[in-house]
Amino acid sequence: MKIVVCIRQGLDGEINPFDACAYEAALQIQGSEITLLSMGPEKAKDFLHQLTRRGAKNAVLLSDSAFAGADTLATAYALSLAIKKIEPDLIICGRQTLVGDTAQVGPMLSVMCDCSLITNVMEIKSVDTEIKCITRAIGEETAQLPSLITVERINNLRLPSIRSKMGEISVWSADDIGADKNKCGLVGSPTRVLKTYENSKGKRKCKFITLDELDGVIKTALERSNSKQDIVASSDKRLRQVVIVGESPREFAEMVSDDITVIPCDNEQNIIDYIVKTAPQAVLWGSDIISKRMASRVAAALNLGLCADCTALDTDGEKLLMYRPALSGSIIAKIESLTYPAMATVRTKDSLVKDVFVSVGFGAKDNLEWVKNLAQTYDAELASTRKSVDNGIMPYSTQVGLTGRSVAPPVYIAVGVSGAVHHIVGMQSSGTVIAINPDKKADIFDYADYGIIAEI
Ligand SMILES: Cc1cc2nc3c(=O)[nH]c(=O)nc-3n(C[C@H](O)[C@H](O)[C@H](O)COP(=O)(O)OP(=O)(O)OC[C@H]3O[C@@H](n4cnc5c(N)ncnc54)[C@H](O)[C@@H]3O)c2cc1C
Repeated sequence: MKIVVCIRQGLDGEINPFDACAYEAALQIQGSEITLLSMGPEKAKDFLHQLTRRGAKNAVLLSDSAFAGADTLATAYALSLAIKKIEPDLIICGRQTLVGDTAQVGPMLSVMCDCSLITNVMEIKSVDTEIKCITRAIGEETAQLPSLITVERINNLRLPSIRSKMGEISVWSADDIGADKNKCGLVGSPTRVLKTYENSKGKRKCKFITLDELDGVIKTALERSNSKQDIVASSDKRLRQVVIVGESPREFAEMVSDDITVIPCDNEQNIIDYIVKTAPQAVLWGSDIISKRMASRVAAALNLGLCADCTALDTDGEKLLMYRPALSGSIIAKIESLTYPAMATVRTKDSLVKDVFVSVGFGAKDNLEWVKNLAQTYDAELASTRKSVDNGIMPYSTQVGLTGRSVAPPVYIAVGVSGAVHHIVGMQSSGTVIAINPDKKADIFDYADYGIIAEI
C-alpha cells in the first residue's frame, strides 16, 4: 500500500507532534510503502532525509521561492499536485500544525486530491480497499480508498534503529509539479495578516480566596455564566449579508451584520450551492470538529480563504476583519480575506455539554479522588493537562491545550495545573477561571479570576 505522510518542520526544528503520530500510524500499517512529503525551504532537506531512517522508503521536499508565504489553501494546492504525481492509496496528515494551528490543510487536500476524508482519528482499525477508524467526533468511520485521514496524538514515533538506512530524497520545484505560480505561496494565498498584537487578554486579575469559599464562587459564576468571548466589534459599520452555518456563530454574526441567514451544517453540496447563489459578504462557521472540517472542504471547493478559530470580528462595512490567536496564543493576528465571501470559523461554545470543567493537572495526581468528587458535585466534565495524559493519569480525550482541545465553559477549575502557555491557549476563553495550587508563584494564577493556595 502506497502511503504519503505529510510532514511539517516546527519552529523548534522538530517534526510537528501530530505529524509524528501520522508517520508512526503509517509505519504500523502492514506492507506500507511510505513517502514523506513536506513543503519548506531547501534547508529542510536534511531534516526530512534524517526522518526516512524511521522506515519511510523515500521523501519529497517541495521547495521553491514561489511556495513561500503560503496560507492553508496555497499549501494544500502545492501538496495536492505532488500527491497526484505520487498517486498514493492513502494520505496521512497530522490533525494540525502547532505553527498554523488551523486543522484546515488535511480536509482541503482531500477535496483537491478528490479522495475520501476521515479526520481526528484516534485509532486505525483496518485498511484494505477501505479504511476503518475510530474518530474523536463520530466514533467508527469507514471510507473507500483512496482516502486522506488526519490523526490525533495517538502514538509515539519510533526511534531509528542503529542499522537503519536513509531513504531517497527528492526536491521538487513548482515547475516539477506543474504548479500555477499564481496559486502558490503568498501570491496565491487569499488570507492576509494585516497586523499582529501582543495578546494580554488571557491574563486576569486573580482574587485569592479560601477553599471554603469555592462553592459560593462557583455558584455565583454559574449564575452569571458570562463566557468570556472577545467578540466586540469596535466600529458601527455593518456588512450587507452574513450567512451562518448552524446556529452557533450567531453571536459573532450579530456583531457585524443585521442581515443574518442561517443554513444547516449538513450537506456540503447544498452549502456550496447556497453560497454561490446568494453571494453573501461573509460565511461563518462554528468551531466543532464537523463545522471546521466542512468549512475547510467548502473553502477548497470554492477556492476561498478561510480564517480559523476567530475570537473577535469587526468590519469596515465592506470587509470582514477577523482576529485570531496565533503562536500558542502569545499574539493576536488581524486577518482579512482577499476572496469573497470572507469565511471564518469562530470559537463558539457549542461543542461543550457541561457548564463546569474541572482540569486535572499533574499536581493533582496524589488526590484524584478529591478532584473527581469536586467534578461530580458540580456535574462537571473532567479536563486535563498534557503532563497528566503523558503520565497515564488521564485519557488523551480530556487534554486541553495546544495539542489537545480548546474549551470555553462558563467555569474552568484548574487543580494542580502549573499554567504553561501550551495549556492556557486551550482554556483562556473560559468564563470564570478558578485555580487551586500550593505555589503562589504558579503561572496559572495570572490567568485565573480566583485562586486558592492549597494542596489537595
Ligand atoms: C509542543 C508542546 C505542546 C504541548 N501541548 C500541551 C497541551 O495541549 N496541553 C497541556 O496541558 N500541555 C501541553 N504541553 C505541556 C506544557 O508545556 C506543560 O508541560 C504542561 O501543561 C504541564 O502540566 P501540569 O500543569 O499538569 O504539570 P506541572 O507543570 O508539573 O505542574 C503541576 C502543578 O501542580 C502543583 N501542585 C503540586 N502539588 C500539588 C497539590 N498537592 N495540589 C495542587 N497542586 C499541586 C504544582 O505547584 C505545579 O504548579 C505541551 C508542550 C509542548 C512542548
